Amino acid sequence: MNYKKHYPVIIIGSGPAGLTAAIYTARANLEPLLIEGIQPGGQLTITTEVENFPGFPEGIMGPELMDNMRQQAERFGTSFITDAVTSVDLSAKPIQVVVDKDTYTTDALIIATGASARLLGLESEVRLMGHGVSACATCDGFFFKGKEIIVVGGGDSACEEAVYLTKFASKVTLVHRRAELRASKIMQKRALEHPKIEMMWNSLPVEFVANEKGQLDGVKMKHGVSGETFYHKCDGAFIAIGHHPNTSLFVGQIPLNLSGYIITTPGTTHTSIEGVFACGDVQDHVYRQAISAAGSGCMAAIDAEHYLTEKGG
Ligand code: NAP
Repeated sequence: MNYKKHYPVIIIGSGPAGLTAAIYTARANLEPLLIEGIQPGGQLTITTEVENFPGFPEGIMGPELMDNMRQQAERFGTSFITDAVTSVDLSAKPIQVVVDKDTYTTDALIIATGASARLLGLESEVRLMGHGVSACATCDGFFFKGKEIIVVGGGDSACEEAVYLTKFASKVTLVHRRAELRASKIMQKRALEHPKIEMMWNSLPVEFVANEKGQLDGVKMKHGVSGETFYHKCDGAFIAIGHHPNTSLFVGQIPLNLSGYIITTPGTTHTSIEGVFACGDVQDHVYRQAISAAGSGCMAAIDAEHYLTEKGG
């Protein structure tokens, strides 16, 4: 594909927010360029069934939903680059976006880089990642057929992953640092009433321990109330403790809140930088749903279109 050097609109990120922004800007004849990253599709590509995206009464698999959105964006003339953005210069006019050795310029930039799985921050967690420790149940669950595993976390993700992993594991222990789950009532019920799921309350992993083959053997835990440590033997450990926004590219160039999310003007996708818009999980620490991300992607496209019209572009 031959890429132009200048685009009226460039979108960074290919989850529901970025792809919806592409569908809308492409249908407005703005011929957007979407830089989709190395692993396109965002968080829904590592999800199983999506039950709550309107329009799919029987549910739809996450990767299929993303593939459908991509095809829809392509149909209206979106150009795609499957690579990661190396750097941006938001103060340049026009705005610069660098992908390896290529620099692209744009009049309106839509940031839709989403959020990534958060980890506990233990050295052993990183060392044993892929050797029994995982942050993605749908990617790695298959490897734990008939095994005993733990899931760490107390939110919807942890409950959903625990239930999903019962398809493979003989037993799932849901380890939560408090004595009450944060998850929605329906997800709590599914996890708490599942015959294969056992709760371990007030507990936190402090070290993942390897066996002689370098695979996970078990986890040293600390009890939050008594302060005592104990050992829990298991073959797999899935971390499901939430996400952090993917904003490292923009640090020092755009205002971020204390958690690192891009700040937008309430009710819009405008950032404080002229011509720069943000949508989806990168600016939303509250709702974080596929449908709300898609909705804000639509808003970003319309905000960008109005901006370009007013600017006379
Ligand atoms: P979350 O709601 O932020 O929950 C994170 C969980 O991890 C909390 O229980 C938290 O404990 C725990 N945690 C955080 N840091 C920890 C640490 N350092 N050590 C131990 N535990 C830690 O994240 P989420 O479950 O990923 O959900 C994010 C959003 O997506 C939510 O709005 C959720 O409703 C949504 N979601 C929806 C679905 C669905 O509807 N199917 C599925 C997944 C996610 P505390 O409770 O003590 O803070």
